[in-house]
Amino acid sequence: MEHQLKDLRHRTLRDLRISVTDRCNFRCRYCMPSEIFGPDYKFLPGDSILTYEEMTRLARIFVSLGVKKLRITGGEPLMRKDVASFIRALSRLEGVEDIAMTTNGVLLPKYAKELRAAGLMRVTVSLDSLDDQRFRSMNGGKSGVQPVLDGIDSAEQAGMKVKINMVVQKGVNDQDILPMAAYFREKKQTLRFIEFMDVGNTNGWKPDNVVTKKEILEIIHEKMPLEPVDALYHGEVASRYRYKGSNEEIGIISSVSDAFCSTCSRARISAEGKLYTCLFASRGHDLRALLRSDQTDSEIVRFIEDIWQARSDSYSEDRMIHSQQLPKIEMSHIGG
Ligand code: SAM
Ligand code: SF4
Ligand code: SF4
Repeated sequence: MEHQLKDLRHRTLRDLRISVTDRCNFRCRYCMPSEIFGPDYKFLPGDSILTYEEMTRLARIFVSLGVKKLRITGGEPLMRKDVASFIRALSRLEGVEDIAMTTNGVLLPKYAKELRAAGLMRVTVSLDSLDDQRFRSMNGGKSGVQPVLDGIDSAEQAGMKVKINMVVQKGVNDQDILPMAAYFREKKQTLRFIEFMDVGNTNGWKPDNVVTKKEILEIIHEKMPLEPVDALYHGEVASRYRYKGSNEEIGIISSVSDAFCSTCSRARISAEGKLYTCLFASRGHDLRALLRSDQTDSEIVRFIEDIWQARSDSYSEDRMIHSQQLPKIEMSHIGG
């Protein structure tokens, strides 16, 4: 019988996001501002990061608990050596229906074929602007636009499905909403707009910096009329819209203005093996200690079951009543 692990709000555990590294070759201001993540920043030492064998063991355990979808993230996941071998191990797990990766894309030309051959089905590539100068100023001067577009092309050529993520910040890149929409519509690739979120403690988030789902839709609809599309499955994060009279779509991830906690089925594991039941959690549960002691799989299963069954997270629904002072896990640790 299928495992139906439920939390306190009757939400099942369906998705697992695994961060394979806390390092990144970008310094996006909203995620890893270079003043904080500078040359002296202490990233996780190698021995505190889970090995691929440890991550694969955890993935197997989570799949036995009902997880169907796996997403590899970071930091920048392609910064870690031989991610393809990890994907290969994951793709052999019985019960996994989908393996995806979120990446900034610049290393895809180098690795896309290998990743596809290893079993990676989908990539989400993050790109916040088509304007070179603006994009550079958003990513800490680490890359222009073209290397990311090349990454997108190489993923598609390798046979993977590609989606694009754009984080929208008021006064920073809201003028790019329309050019990005038009460009990716033309390329027949789905662009997903993400409301700027108050993840971590370092990105200076204020409610005023958010361009809401409603505002994004209005901007696009005025020039390219849209109609809503039904969710493909329960718990889909993005609300979907289609350009009228076409098959091309956009998505909007409205964690701030229209929270979707009530269907949130995602667990996250950081590179050092902490389990987080919410993107905005202040505390993780140490799975590495269990992996590196003599705990059996069944003991680890019980540990995770207890955590999920006690889960009541709904940060985004309650955002405005939370104290903004509570320390939260950084995005570069947990990977979005
Ligand atoms: N480095 C990879 C990348 O950028 O795609 C994977 C990790 S990154 C943390 C995952 C996603 O989180 C990216 O699409 C990024 O744009 C998004 N993200 C990071 N900080 C964010 C924030 N404060 N608000 C909304 N999205 C954010
Ligand atoms: Fe790196 Fe991704 Fe964070 Fe940008 S959003 S700094 S690419 S981890
Ligand atoms: Fe899930 Fe937490 Fe985001 Fe709500 S705030 S959707 S519980 S990760």
